[in-house]
Formats: sequence, C-alpha cells, structure tokens
Amino acid sequence: SWGSLSDKNVYDWSSEEEEPDGRARPVQVLVVKDDHTFELDEAALSRILLAEEVRDRDVVAVSVAGAFRKGKSFLMDFMLRYMYKQAAVDWLGEAEDPLTGFTWRGGSERETTGIQIWSEVFLVDKPDGHKVAVLLMDTQGTFDSQSTLRDSATVFALSTMISSMQVYNISQNVQEDDLQHLQLFTEYGRLAMEETCLKPFQSLRFLVRDWSFPYEFPYGQEGGMTFLEKRLKNQHEELQNVRKHIHSCFTNISCYLMPHPGLKVATNPNFDGRIKEIDKDFIDNLEVLVPWLLSPANLDVKEINGSRITCRGLLEYFKAYIKIYQG
Ligand code: GDP
Ligand code: MG
Repeated sequence: SWGSLSDKNVYDWSSEEEEPDGRARPVQVLVVKDDHTFELDEAALSRILLAEEVRDRDVVAVSVAGAFRKGKSFLMDFMLRYMYKQAAVDWLGEAEDPLTGFTWRGGSERETTGIQIWSEVFLVDKPDGHKVAVLLMDTQGTFDSQSTLRDSATVFALSTMISSMQVYNISQNVQEDDLQHLQLFTEYGRLAMEETCLKPFQSLRFLVRDWSFPYEFPYGQEGGMTFLEKRLKNQHEELQNVRKHIHSCFTNISCYLMPHPGLKVATNPNFDGRIKEIDKDFIDNLEVLVPWLLSPANLDVKEINGSRITCRGLLEYFKAYIKIYQG
C-alpha cells in the first residue's frame, strides 16, 4: 500500500521554514537571486530527503518544468491528489472540491526562478513489489532576457540532472523557442556530466497545453508522439541538430497533447479549481495523463551511470551539481 510521511518523523523538525501546523506544502529548495547566484536550502532539502522512512529507498524524482503562468501548479495539484489517493479509481475527487497544494491561483505566487519540492515524499509499491520514494518537483524560470535565460537554463539543467522524469510544460505548440531552450538546458547539463558515456538523462515528456488541432493530431500520447516526430523533422536548418541532440541525451522521449481547460479556468479570477467548472475534455485527459505520469508501474527509479539512487544519494548529487554551477 502507499503511505506518506507523518510530520513527527521529519528530520530536524525545528526549522523556521515549516508551517506551524506542519502540513505538507511546497518548499523552495533552490533560488536564483538577483545577482544570478544560486542558493540551495540544504537544511530544507535534507529534512525532506533524509526523513527516516525514505532516506534509504530508491527515489523516483518527477519534475514539471517550464515558464510561469502556464498551468504547472494547477496540474501538479491534480498529481498530488493522485498520490494522496494512492491511485484509487476515484482519485480525481468531488465535482465541487477546490484544488489545493502547489499555489496556482493567479497573482498569489511569487515568481522565483528555482526549484520547489513537495515536502512530503510518497512511498509507493511498484507492481513488482519494489517500494520506491516519489519526489515531486516544480521547476520554473523566466525567459525574457539574456540573463534570465541563462539562470533558467541552469535551473532546468539541474532539475533534469536530478529527476528521473522531466515533464516539459509548454503552451499551445512546440515552438522553436521551446526547442532552443531545451537544447540550451540539456547542453548545460551535458557539460556538467561530461565524464559519463551513457545517456545523461532519463525520461523527457513534452506536455503541450491548450492544444487546438485535435483533428490533425488527437489529444493524448499517441497523437503527441506523431506530432512531436513530425515537428522535430520540420525545423529550420539551425535547429536540425536539436532532434539528434535531444535523442542523444534522453533514454526515453514522449509527448502528450492536452486540451484547453475552458474559459473559467483561464480567465475567472474567482475560480478555485473545482472540477465542475473545468471542460470535460480536459478532465477526461487528466484521467489519462496523470496515471501515465505517476501510476506505480510507470515510476522509474533515478539512475546515474547505471546505478539506482536513493533519497540520501540524491541529496549528495544535488549538492555536487550545485557546486559545478557555482564554479
Ligand atoms: P504556473 O505558473 O505554470 O504554475 O501556472 P499556474 O498553475 O499557477 O496557472 C496559471 C493560470 O493559468 C491560472 O489562472 C490557471 O487557472 C490557468 N490554467 C491552468 N491550467 C491551464 C491550462 O491548461 N490552460 C490555460 N489556458 N490556463 C490554465
Ligand atoms: Mg506555479
């Protein structure tokens, strides 16, 4: 069965970053500051990854990465529901339940380039009996200037190196910008991992939000895959290497085309996330997408150079990788 941490067992409980009620929440573990330096909250990260029940478990690290205001937190709140409901058939919840978890409501979010992780690590039994620890990460950046692009590329590279699955959340289509950014992220990551001859990264999943050509390429994973292959072939000369490059970096590449959630989600400032007000197409696809990302059978343990990594090991890699970029 699935379980999650109870508050009393969390390592070094006394830190100020915890809410007084000790409830699970997103924790900013990496911040890019105004002077472009990186700050890792090692105490917070240790508290989460060194908690007794998880520290020696093999870790599955799922990151959702992309620009701000593209529905990442909204999706992650549904991912949390699935994790808390232990993949039960009714995981989606009641029609009128407001969404909670990662902050997602318009305006209430500080736009910090960096990485947030959910303070609760989930223990899951895979179908083969292997118990793994699942970590959810939210990676965000801005891409509007030379310097923010560089900061974001570094953060994305880090989260790609740390995760076993990188979900690249993009809006409407796979644009050349998105591919260029991806190439930059993976180039940064590859430089840092130069010594290895294996593919440096594991799974990359493009997630296209507000897909509006379902008659050309249907919603979902199969349509996504056909679309992605075609998209990666039809590119300008300067980007022709991107496809090769991406394929050389990741063991596994896929794509999911997600419908628009409807006008209430996109524009109503009072919308609180209740399913009742979300378009049915979107909900139907959530019910496919979330298990595709997180069902116990689909959770792949993080591997580095062919070895499985535990939560404790991941903490060490996190610290080592940060040092590379701090130069
Ligand atoms: P984040 O900054 O990427 O985490 O984005 P949020 O999850 O905070 O969402 C930003 C805004 O987009 C909110 O007002 C959401 O209601 C809305 N939103 C969430 N998902 C979608 C989507 O799939 N499409 C559109 N158009 N809007 C969405
Ligand atoms: Mg967010």
